[in-house]
Amino acid sequence: MTAAQPFNHGEPRDHTLDACFLGPYGENDALLEKMLVEFLRDHVYWRRNFHPEDPPAIGTGATYHPDYVAFESRMRRELHQLSAALKKSVPFHSPRYIGHMASDLLLPGLAAQMLTLPYNPNNVSEDAAPVTVDMEVQAGLQLARMLGYPHDPAVDACAFGHLTSGGTLANYQALRLALALKAFPLALRAAHVPELDLPDDDWHAFNLAQADGIALLTAWQAWLAAQTPAVRARWLQRVEGERIEQRGLVGFFAAHSPLKVPLVLAPVTAHYSWSKGLKLLGLGRDQLKLLPTDGMRLDPAALRDTLERCAREQQGVLLCVAVLGGTEYGTIDPIDAVLAARHDSRQRGLDFAVHVDAAWGGYLATLFRNQDGSLRSRAEVATEYVQFPTAAVHAAFAALGDTDSVTVDPHKLGYLPYGSGAFICRDHRAMALLAERADYVFHGGTPKDYLARYRNLGQFIPEGSKSGAAAAAVYVTHKVLPLDHVHFGRLLRATVRAAETFHASARRFALELSDCVQALVPFAPDSNLVCLALNPRGNSSIPTANAFVRKLHDILRCDPQQPLQTKEFFGSVTTLRPELLGPGQTARIFGALGLDTSKLDPDEDGLLILRHTLMNPFLIDHENGINYMDRYFDFLGRRVRALLDPAGSTP
Ligand SMILES: *Cc1c(COP(=O)(O)O)cnc(C)c1O
Repeated sequence: MTAAQPFNHGEPRDHTLDACFLGPYGENDALLEKMLVEFLRDHVYWRRNFHPEDPPAIGTGATYHPDYVAFESRMRRELHQLSAALKKSVPFHSPRYIGHMASDLLLPGLAAQMLTLPYNPNNVSEDAAPVTVDMEVQAGLQLARMLGYPHDPAVDACAFGHLTSGGTLANYQALRLALALKAFPLALRAAHVPELDLPDDDWHAFNLAQADGIALLTAWQAWLAAQTPAVRARWLQRVEGERIEQRGLVGFFAAHSPLKVPLVLAPVTAHYSWSKGLKLLGLGRDQLKLLPTDGMRLDPAALRDTLERCAREQQGVLLCVAVLGGTEYGTIDPIDAVLAARHDSRQRGLDFAVHVDAAWGGYLATLFRNQDGSLRSRAEVATEYVQFPTAAVHAAFAALGDTDSVTVDPHKLGYLPYGSGAFICRDHRAMALLAERADYVFHGGTPKDYLARYRNLGQFIPEGSKSGAAAAAVYVTHKVLPLDHVHFGRLLRATVRAAETFHASARRFALELSDCVQALVPFAPDSNLVCLALNPRGNSSIPTANAFVRKLHDILRCDPQQPLQTKEFFGSVTTLRPELLGPGQTARIFGALGLDTSKLDPDEDGLLILRHTLMNPFLIDHENGINYMDRYFDFLGRRVRALLDPAGSTP
């Protein structure tokens, strides 16, 4: 263990992680190969054993036919070319890759996906995926448990989750569900459904708490179930005809004047998928109200101001987004404060859904989860880190269970192949409103019914046909590495610790190079993304600083014209925009860098900075005593000096 000594995060090598990945060197090639061959053979036997009496349809001599040979040779040639071309791929597996949100793939998921592919299940419905559609629903429950949502299908208010192609579609699903639930009580009012306790006016109906909206929906379903089939059909048609999904935004809001099209509130750090979602749903980007942040975390005071104004003006709010692990800085919004603001807004008659965009940070919830599903205290978690988790970060994760829905990307911190995103809502009963067929009258509430309902997944999701293999990968991975701190959390603990080490190294780097650059980590990392702003010493011009960082990025980005091996490290960049930062943070950061914001060129939209994703599990190689993060800073220091002094007069 002496090799681990030099690192302040030195700890005994964690052997449980050794079998998790193919590895930077392909160390586990034999393991993966053994599994692939075994399960490919298994698949072939399955084919043969379907009706062993059916003879082979392709003759045993077929391989000698010139057409067969010609086809095979064409196929092999193209595959060789593909394989050769793919050598230019980005080396996500390497600890020298600290760029975007990608890393090596977890072996259980990779193997599960590859083994499922030849069965080609389509998770649109159980008819096309008798096995993997259940796995998808189970994966939703596994994620629900990780988040602190009710996850027992025997409970009426159990959560529900499904996979999507990615976080973008999961965020879109959050918008669809929130809108369906918000607008539904108005449809009941417009249809004059008798015997239901409906709100007195549209504004109240539009501002029911989610729980009250769901209670109304279940009361309506129960009322329907008690009617004769003919009456039921008539009422169903009448209410359906009044729903926003039937009338469209234009017809619906015209019928409910003066009710306005609702806003979606999100921090300025929100991912651009929110803009896409508002466009796609027809709400329009005008309805996306971006809230200021403080240190790149949503500012609760600004949220409260906005909510007060909306309540005063009777401007509805569909949804407030909180980001758990921002795409640029990995910062974590104060979810607890967002929920508190909603609680107060409710008193003023303005209610809305709270959705957490945890596409990046969702799996970090495993760090806070005990094996029995209970929450770990901050003190308990903190023993494993230098600073993590701040009180604010712990409070945000602790509040997750009280939100309405969450987006999590298994293809990000779940270390699984693209495209696997996930949408999870806290109370599955709302999902009935997304069903393409209004199959309102459900029976019973047993786990069997729950599973049976969601086997027709295509009814509820934005997509149609979809990969069952991806669902198998997520489900199997969560079984091998349960979503708690002793299992999956171990992997993510390594990433947060790496970020702490990286942050410390970045500060050391800033000191060591202070003679030639002013360098600064603009925001203390909440999780495992760390940015670094750099400005050549003596320079106050933002365009000059940007040109400098752009040159560094050219060294750190993938370049298909160059052999991969010429690259020492991979990083990414992002932009600090004063209009997003606000005057206080802009003055602090630009000031510390010696940059003059009065000279901000209108053509430059901000300050380019380096961005690092510390998700590779092998950033510290205990086996050989290598710390790739130190090597990165050595490398960066050399390149910085070389760029600033091309003649090489400095050592
Ligand atoms: C990555 C990301 C998304 C989009 O997810 P995709 O899987 O790329 O569609 C949305 N929100 C956040 C916070 C993200 O990090």
